[in-house]
Amino acid sequence: MKKRVIELIEKLAREHTLSLEEYEYIITNRDADAIERARELAVSVRRAVYGNAVYIRGLIEISNICKNDCIYCGIRRSNHDCDRYRLTKEQILSCCDEGYSLGFRTFVMQGGEDPHFDDDVLCDIVKAIKTKYPDCAVTLSMGERSRESYEKLFLAGADRYLLRHETADAEHYSKLHPETMSFENRMRCLYDLKDIGFQTGCGFMVGSPYQTVENIAKDLKFIEEFKPHMCGIGPFIPHKATPFASFPAGTVELTCYLLSVIRLIHPKILLPATTALGSIEEGGRERGILSGANVVMPNLSPMDNRKKYELYNNKLYSKAESAQAKAELEERMKNIGYEVVCHRGDAK
Ligand code: SAH
Repeated sequence: MKKRVIELIEKLAREHTLSLEEYEYIITNRDADAIERARELAVSVRRAVYGNAVYIRGLIEISNICKNDCIYCGIRRSNHDCDRYRLTKEQILSCCDEGYSLGFRTFVMQGGEDPHFDDDVLCDIVKAIKTKYPDCAVTLSMGERSRESYEKLFLAGADRYLLRHETADAEHYSKLHPETMSFENRMRCLYDLKDIGFQTGCGFMVGSPYQTVENIAKDLKFIEEFKPHMCGIGPFIPHKATPFASFPAGTVELTCYLLSVIRLIHPKILLPATTALGSIEEGGRERGILSGANVVMPNLSPMDNRKKYELYNNKLYSKAESAQAKAELEERMKNIGYEVVCHRGDAK
């Protein structure tokens, strides 16, 4: 007789929905067979939608200055050991120039919540990129802002916005963030972004402090119902200068299983094999792709700044994480049967 966990994974692949209890069940009762079955189904649905294409995005980390104090994050305001920087418009544009000649057609600007990047400054940069490179998509990942601000950025030409929800459980959210931040506002931002017309990405850390199986089940239910265009998940990795320094890191094993599960929930979702996954284990990113992910986001930031954008310790920024090493990335993807493609890579 078939195990219940396998039956539930097959049901998810058919119906793209499970109850909260069922999501909990497939997490708690996962074994080698369940992980393999989920992987196999995820890879086959990924192949049906995207073939063997891997989409790439050039990641530009535009500032590590942040007014927020997220407890897990290495660039939180309270970390006085962090060497702060912000890129100028000229520096950002020259990252795009370099990225464009390497073949990147999506630029992701990510940063701390740096008050310097107000609407005027950020809209001006978005417009400059879109004017120079109208065939490219611009993705922003600049944290929580007002609805009016998101509207202005959308009108300036930004196509996509990444804002991880971090956890879909309000109580868990409050354990990861200072009192000045709220779960309600995070959710408000995500619904505004989607409503305005951005291709919107949410996501969470796997193995974040105090995370329970019930929390992850809620994350999956939220992803199912919110229907994001993109979803970024990666293992939590402790940073020594944060209060979470001594918490254990999340695992590659659970992250990859959840990538498969998310692929089964939304066959067409854009699902990156994240830097955190590649940082925690050699070949982690390949394991992500082999579990159902279809996007990688190599780093295009100026080399001198990369080390300073330290969200967690031992974050990769060279070798195949580096946009300059696109050939190595292409080789690594070819070795596992996939092909890096150079168009904008919108969701199907
Ligand atoms: N300020 C932006 C960008 C944050 S950094 C925003 O608020 O969206 C991007 C993501 O890195 C975060 O959303 C978080 O999920 C992840 N991150 C931060 N610290 C981390 C850590 N210690 N381990 C793993 N991922 C981390």
